Amino acid sequence: MARNPRYDVLFEPVRIGPVTAPNRFYAVPHASGMTNTMPRMRAAFRATKAEGGWGVVCTGYVSIDPSSDDAPLPYATLWDDEDIRSHALMTDAVHRHGALAGIELWHGGGSVMNRVSRIPSMSPSGTAWMPTHVNFMGHQRPRVMDSQDIRELLQAQKQAARRARTAGFDIVYVYAGMGYLPYEFFLPEWNQRTDAYGGPLRNRVRLVRELLEVTHEAVGGQCAVALRISLEELRARRSEHAPSEAHELVELLASVPDLWDVKMDSGPTDCAPSRFTSEGSHEPVIDFVKSITNRPVVGVGRFTSPDAMVGQIRRGVLDLIGAARPSIADPFLPQKIADGREDEIRECIGCNICISSWHDSVPVRCTQNPTIGEEWRRQWHPERIARAQDADSTVLVVGAGPAGLECALTLGRRGYQVILAEAQEDLGGRLRFETRLPGLSSWSRVLQWRRSQLQRLPNVAIYRGNRLDAAQIVELAPRHVVTATGARWVPLLYSPLEVPAGTLDTANVYTPDDVAAGAALNDPVIVFDFDNYYMGSALAEHLAKSGHRVSYVTPAGHVSAWGIMTNEQPQTHRALAAAAVPVHTLSRVESFDGEEVTLVHMFTPARAQLPCKSLIIVGARLPDDAVYQALMAQGEALGEAGIVSVSRAGDALAPGAIAHAVYSGHRMGRELGASEQQVPFRRDAPLRSAIDAGGG
Ligand code: ADP
Ligand code: SF4
Repeated sequence: MARNPRYDVLFEPVRIGPVTAPNRFYAVPHASGMTNTMPRMRAAFRATKAEGGWGVVCTGYVSIDPSSDDAPLPYATLWDDEDIRSHALMTDAVHRHGALAGIELWHGGGSVMNRVSRIPSMSPSGTAWMPTHVNFMGHQRPRVMDSQDIRELLQAQKQAARRARTAGFDIVYVYAGMGYLPYEFFLPEWNQRTDAYGGPLRNRVRLVRELLEVTHEAVGGQCAVALRISLEELRARRSEHAPSEAHELVELLASVPDLWDVKMDSGPTDCAPSRFTSEGSHEPVIDFVKSITNRPVVGVGRFTSPDAMVGQIRRGVLDLIGAARPSIADPFLPQKIADGREDEIRECIGCNICISSWHDSVPVRCTQNPTIGEEWRRQWHPERIARAQDADSTVLVVGAGPAGLECALTLGRRGYQVILAEAQEDLGGRLRFETRLPGLSSWSRVLQWRRSQLQRLPNVAIYRGNRLDAAQIVELAPRHVVTATGARWVPLLYSPLEVPAGTLDTANVYTPDDVAAGAALNDPVIVFDFDNYYMGSALAEHLAKSGHRVSYVTPAGHVSAWGIMTNEQPQTHRALAAAAVPVHTLSRVESFDGEEVTLVHMFTPARAQLPCKSLIIVGARLPDDAVYQALMAQGEALGEAGIVSVSRAGDALAPGAIAHAVYSGHRMGRELGASEQQVPFRRDAPLRSAIDAGGG
C-alpha cells in the first residue's frame, strides 16, 4: 500500500549539526537493561528498531567514568578504550539499516551510590538526589566537587566523547536531566556554590556549556552534539529575564548543542503511565523550546498515532518525533506508516512494564511486544516468523485471553490451521473486565491489535461462546492442543510468616473475579490487597467511583506497592485520596465476621477493627487448568485420537501479569512442533579484547 501523503512530512530528512537523520523518527535514549555484559543482545535489539525505520537509534545511559556507577541498576559504560568494541557492535548494526546511532553519555553525580566502584559520589554542594527515597537511599553522602573535580569531569566527558566517535556514533549526548550531575548544577537547592558555577542561572549552566564545548572538541565536527535536558522544574521557576528559568536556560545555550532533546524531570512525569496520564503530556512544558533555538528539537509523548506526530511538527512543537515506549512496543512503527499500514501499528499501552525491567535490572520486557530483547537470544523477529515444519496441521487453542490470542496469532503466522475457542462471547479474557477499571482503557489495545491481526489470517477460525471440555477436544482431534484458560483469584490468606493460611470461605468474602462477574456488594467494602500491583487500587477506585464506601488495606508500606516499578506509585496514592478511599498500610486482615474485619499491624501486636460488610481479597491467583488436567488424564486416548501434544500457556501455566501471558503465548506459538535444536537460547558475554587476551 502507498503511504498516506498526509504523513510525508514524517519522512523528511533532518539536518543535525554535521549529520543528517534520514527521517523524523527518533528512538531516544532509554534504559534497556542490557549493559555491556550483553552486547550482542543489545546490538540486535537496537538494530531491529533501525530496520523498522527509526532514523536515529540511541543507547541508554552510558557512564563516562567509574565515579558514576548506578549499580544495581543496569547502566552501560565507556570508561576506557576496552569498552569501545561493545558499542561498535551496535553502531555497525544500526548503520547497516541506514539509521544514525546516538549515545547518551552520562554522569549520575549525587544520584548514584557507586556501590560497586566504591568511589565516593559527588555533587555540586554535597547534597544527595532523592535522599528520602527508599530505593535510592544509601548511607554515604556525596562529597562536594572542587575545581579539580570539575576539570576531571570535563576530561572524562571529552575522553568518552572521543571513544564514542571511535565506536562509530553519529550523535553524542550531554545528559543534563532527571537529577543527574549536570542537572544538579541547575537548581540552587543542590547548587549552593559560590564559585563561577553557582549563583545566577548563567553560572549554573556553565558546567553544561563546558560539557557541550569539550564534546564538540572531542568529536571534531564528525558527530552531532546533543543536549538532553529536563525542563519541568525549571519551567515552573520564575526568572527575572524570561518567562521562566527554562526559557532563560534555552536562551543562554540556544545554539551550543546541535540538537535539543527535551524531557520531564522524574520517572512518573517523564515516562508517565497511561493509567493516569494521556499521550503528549510533555507538550505544556517543552512547547516553547523551538521558539528560542534554531537547532532541531526532539521530544517524546508516547506517540503512536501518525496524525498526532504530524500535529507536533505542524504546530512547531518538535522537529523529530522521539519515542522510547512506542519504539519498544512496535520497532516497525515507522515502516508501517511508510507502507500505508498504520492500522497495523502495535500501539504501546502505557503500562510501563518496560520500565519495571530497568528497575529489576533485567533485559527489557513489553506487554505488547513479546519479541523485545529476544532478537538475538531467541532469534525472534517482531515481523517475521518461519513456517512450521508441520504447518497445515490443526492446532486448537482453548481460551482467548492475552495468552491464547497471542498464541493463535503466532501459530497462524507459522501456517497452522488454528481453531481458537473462547467460552465467552467476547474475546480478551481478563482484559474484558480490567480495561473497564479507571485509567486502564488503553490496555484494550492488547486485544484490539491481536483481534485485527487474526482477522487477516484465513487459516485461523475463532469460535466464541464455546466452552470446551476434554471430551469435546478429543472428539475434535486436533494435532496439537494449547490450553490458555487463564487463572482465578482465590481468597487465600497468609500467616505472619507468610505461610498460606487457607482460604477465607465465609459469606461476603469476594475476589476480583466475583466483582467482574457483578457480585452485589454491601457497604462498607474493604479491599485487602497483597497482590501489590494495580488490581487492588484500581478496584478500590472503581468501586468508590461507583458509589460504594470503600477502604483499602495492605500489608505493604504503600498502595499498590509494586507500582513503584512502573512509575505509578505517586499517582495511585493521589487517585485513592481523590476518590476518598481511606488507606491502611502495614496491616493484615486477621479475621472477618461479616460485620467487622480485624486488622493486625505487620510488625507489632496492635489490632484495629473496621466495619465491613464485603471483604474483597486481592492476593493470590491459581491456574485455571482443569481442561488441561482432564486432557492429560485421558492417557492413550489422546494418541488414538491423533493428538500429539497438549500444553498450557499464560496464566493457566503460571499466573502473572499480562506481559507474562503474552510472552508465554508467543513462545508457545513459536516453539510448538519445533525440535530442541530449532529453539535457540543463546548466552551473551562481554566483549573486552585485552582482558580476553590475558592483558587484564
Ligand atoms: P491469560 O492471561 O493467560 O490469557 P485469561 O484469564 O485472560 O488468561 O484468559 C483465559 C480465557 O480462557 C478466558 O477468556 C476464559 O473465558 C477462557 N476459557 C477458560 N476455560 C475455557 C474453556 N474450557 N473453553 C474455552 N475458553 C475457556
Ligand atoms: Fe508500552 Fe507497556 Fe510495552 Fe512499555 S511495556 S512499551 S508501556 S506496552
